[in-house]
Amino acid sequence: MFGHLFEMSGGDEAQLLNETSRIKGKEALYKNIEAADALAGAVKTTLGPKGLDKMLVTENGAVKITNDGASILENAIIEHPIAKMLIQVAITQDNTVYDGTTSTVLISSELLQNAWELYQKGIHPSIISNGYSLAYETSNEFIHSNAIKIKHGDKLENVVKTSLSVKFGSTLRDHLVSLICKTAREIEAKNNLKIIQNKGGSVEDSYLLKGLVLAKQACSPDMKRNFSKGNILILDGGIENKKPTMTTKINITEPTMIAAFREKELALISEQIDDIIKISPDILVCRDGIDDYAIRLLQKNGITAYRRVEKEDLELLARTCSASVIASPRMAKRDDLGKFESSEELNWSGITHWVVRGTNSKGMTLVIRGSNQALLDDIEKSFSDTLGVACEANEKGLFLPGGGATQMALSRHLKKWAEEFKGRESLAILAYADALEVIPRTLAINSGLDPIDKILKLNAAQASSKTKMSNYWGFDVETGEICNMIDKGIIENIRQHEQALASSTAAAISILRIDDVLWAKNDPTIPEGIEDEINEN
Ligand code: ADP
Ligand code: MG
Repeated sequence: MFGHLFEMSGGDEAQLLNETSRIKGKEALYKNIEAADALAGAVKTTLGPKGLDKMLVTENGAVKITNDGASILENAIIEHPIAKMLIQVAITQDNTVYDGTTSTVLISSELLQNAWELYQKGIHPSIISNGYSLAYETSNEFIHSNAIKIKHGDKLENVVKTSLSVKFGSTLRDHLVSLICKTAREIEAKNNLKIIQNKGGSVEDSYLLKGLVLAKQACSPDMKRNFSKGNILILDGGIENKKPTMTTKINITEPTMIAAFREKELALISEQIDDIIKISPDILVCRDGIDDYAIRLLQKNGITAYRRVEKEDLELLARTCSASVIASPRMAKRDDLGKFESSEELNWSGITHWVVRGTNSKGMTLVIRGSNQALLDDIEKSFSDTLGVACEANEKGLFLPGGGATQMALSRHLKKWAEEFKGRESLAILAYADALEVIPRTLAINSGLDPIDKILKLNAAQASSKTKMSNYWGFDVETGEICNMIDKGIIENIRQHEQALASSTAAAISILRIDDVLWAKNDPTIPEGIEDEINEN
């Protein structure tokens, strides 16, 4: 709606503005920063391994206990547009680098608080934005020069542990860490894995299977269910009558014509089945449907069929059985067949599951066990995120120290640079440097330690040596000591830091540029309280 608003001219615009609620200038900036602060306040206490959990209660009363920043933000019902915008930033962080959501929200909010202080001192938002952009560019260079390269696969356990440490008790965590590392080493890419839940047992019973598990059963109860070794044909389509794409009208003048139509259809289906029988697969899997007549023919010929398998599963199945996915039975050749080690149907909590073990680990399924739905969901989310982190680590091999070390080193570097910087942006660069300290500070607070004392000590520890190693000094929240994070194995992917800095800077800058907020009147998304204030003015 506002898109139109700005395109209009003169009288039209004035008329439309009357129909909207509006807060402007300083007031708008203040309100927006307040919203960001409130959002950061909601997730602050979850940061780090000593962070606390949040209990989320959905509208229908379901309860979920989690420590995952992204889950909390995704589930919160939030009205303020700026808070919504920051939630989007956090979700992007989660979707692209799988970790660092809480940190991103905290840094964004801190950048805005510090900008507000400068603004009150009379510094224009555009100078602050420029300063922030400059600070960001320098930060990005700095983290690259500070990153350590670890060769393929080494230290994978450490990266996974740092990313996962927040969520679970130590026995469960160790089990998950080894399962995640094993998976990451085998599958190569995250989308080679399917995760499926099997309620019951304990999380430690979760296992990895080379192959695919689907909540499906064969098309007919008379088809063979259990195989050891065999061939599989994978069809990206179906064996049924094609629905016409255009509306056609056929005048039927004689009853025999209907029978003739059906006969023709059956003949076409038989032809397709003949093409399949020629290459004699044990199992046929289709993306679309299979006609009942075709099912009967397949069953008669001893071929077990599964239909309506989603494209992603079909591709995973093709990888794990080293099969080619064919477009139609007419094109099927023996070479297209894949091989499986076994195929069976199992009953899990009353639902039939088709379990097919493949021959290639480029397609795997993780079966998560656990006693209740909330636990299964939490494990699935953590596993999926941390697996993303692990695959990334395997691929790139560039890491940074965690435990607040990187943010502290960055902050110190920017402060030194700001001293030499000629121009009013230097104050904004200092503000940016200060904002980054929110991470070590919050880690200290969440561990029940004095944040000022810890920040001073961390700063002094990093300042005490001139080598690059000093940048690795961070804060181990398990022991409370300040030590070398790389030695301790508290390490993170560089991409997580890159993305967190990039998106929190971009969010802060775009919020600083807003000096006019317009809400359509009577729009239910106007945050409570704001409307009253507007009316008072
Ligand atoms: P985010 O959503 O930002 O990933 P987390 O709650 O996962 O938030 O906390 C991540 C922070 O905790 C990172 O700064 C990471 O370096 C830090 N961290 C993880 N393990 C440790 C540890 N053992 N000691 C100190 N800090 C740690
Ligand atoms: Mg994390």
